[in-house]
Amino acid sequence: MEKIVENQRAFFNSGQSNLIDFRKKQLKKLKSVLQQNEDLLNKAIYSDFKKSEFDTYVTELALLYKDIDEAIKKLGSWAKRKKVSTNLFNFPAKSYIIPEPLGVCLIIGAWNYPYQLSIAPSIAAIAAGNTVILKPSEIPSATSKIMAMLISENFDPNFFAVVEGGKEETTQLLKQKFDKIFFTGSTKIGQIVYEAAAKNLTPVTLELGGKSPAFITENCNLEISVKRLIWGKFLNAGQTCIAPDYVMVHKSIKEKFLQMAKDEVIKERFAFENDNYVQIINEDNFERLEKLLVKEKIYFGGGLDKENRFFEPTIMRNVSFEDAVMQEEIFGPILPVITYENIDDAIRQVNELPKPLSCYVFTKDKEIKNKILSKISFGGGAVNDTVMHIANPNLPFGGVGKSGIGNYHGKAGFSAFSHYKSVLQKYTWFEPSLKYFPRSASKLKWIKRLIKL
Ligand code: NAD
Repeated sequence: MEKIVENQRAFFNSGQSNLIDFRKKQLKKLKSVLQQNEDLLNKAIYSDFKKSEFDTYVTELALLYKDIDEAIKKLGSWAKRKKVSTNLFNFPAKSYIIPEPLGVCLIIGAWNYPYQLSIAPSIAAIAAGNTVILKPSEIPSATSKIMAMLISENFDPNFFAVVEGGKEETTQLLKQKFDKIFFTGSTKIGQIVYEAAAKNLTPVTLELGGKSPAFITENCNLEISVKRLIWGKFLNAGQTCIAPDYVMVHKSIKEKFLQMAKDEVIKERFAFENDNYVQIINEDNFERLEKLLVKEKIYFGGGLDKENRFFEPTIMRNVSFEDAVMQEEIFGPILPVITYENIDDAIRQVNELPKPLSCYVFTKDKEIKNKILSKISFGGGAVNDTVMHIANPNLPFGGVGKSGIGNYHGKAGFSAFSHYKSVLQKYTWFEPSLKYFPRSASKLKWIKRLIKL
């Protein structure tokens, strides 16, 4: 590992990765490698957790292709030196900001969207002119292997390399000195990464998780709200960092909501016999989820096929904030339904939990919408939808508080892997004596005047 980092640093110092043409060429190559190997990528992810070709395209590859196209199109302008105005105090001068790459970057991926969460940050790092060491999650082993193979066959390891492995290998990696660490995963491991990064004062982006609430208010378009909520919840069998974790439903529409939610799960065919649904990633997660179920509170679902790691989409009702299912991020196909009467009380309850990665509000009421948007701090979210904010590259994606530090996607991704160097360029034809010896009352008066301009 030391050798890889050392070689990458030498490559970075040669200035090659900083060249705009080089960045574009590598991104084009990455896109064509992914496109030409879609079949292998589909097979690998299917063998890991039975994710279909349709879902793999929609939730992984399409986002990566879009990211690459956007970066190729815009990185020239993102990387350009930007002129900013100069204050009178500094006259005569001009001021500008030079974006520069950080250097050797470590990217650590999570398992739930193994391609997207490993490759999207790599795209941003390359676009910003860095070298990349990618450590995908070891849990979906086939996807980890295929990424390692495709990247090592097509890229110079001094520029872009994959290190496979789990806790042990990541711990070793974290002992090296990087110029940036980008981590996606749990809050608990995020803390370990942050601590390791602190030793070298390495900047981090931490893309973490949390319990993301959804509000179904009494005056929403219930039909479309249920449709979008159920899709976002059970997509990838709930193993989505920005899935609505639990739903706060107004008491007056609770029964109607439950019935419609159940009908929608059936209609969407989130069932194991077809390709609309995926497995739970491994036994540990299956057992963890199983423990969150309370038989008497199951309104719909609850069917388990342990051997095939099939966990039926499950709706739990009469849930309270004291229940086990509300003590941790669910990260699986269980939807707890909590009812509320007063929106202020509901917001207060949500705010007692750590700041979530996402928040969703379904409403036609502007006042309620604004109340939720202003009173709850969350990473990013949507009004009258779930999950889809991830698909707009103009919206920086990331958490706040325990759900993360920093953000990426589009220009924000470029910025996450860049340093903005600020420069004041002075001219020499004029030098006011104000700041120089001797100090005087009249000079101070002038300074006080000038500072206001
Ligand atoms: P995780 O924290 O268990 O693992 C993430 C990465 O850390 C993996 O690559 C793993 O190999 C590595 N790792 C595990 N133990 C380690 C240790 N002790 N030291 C160093 N590295 C270690 O997370 P996960 O189970 O892969 O993913 C689930 C979590 O990630 C959920 O909380 C979810 O919300 C979050 N997540 C967040 C986002 C986001 O964009 N914010 C996206 C996906 C997942």
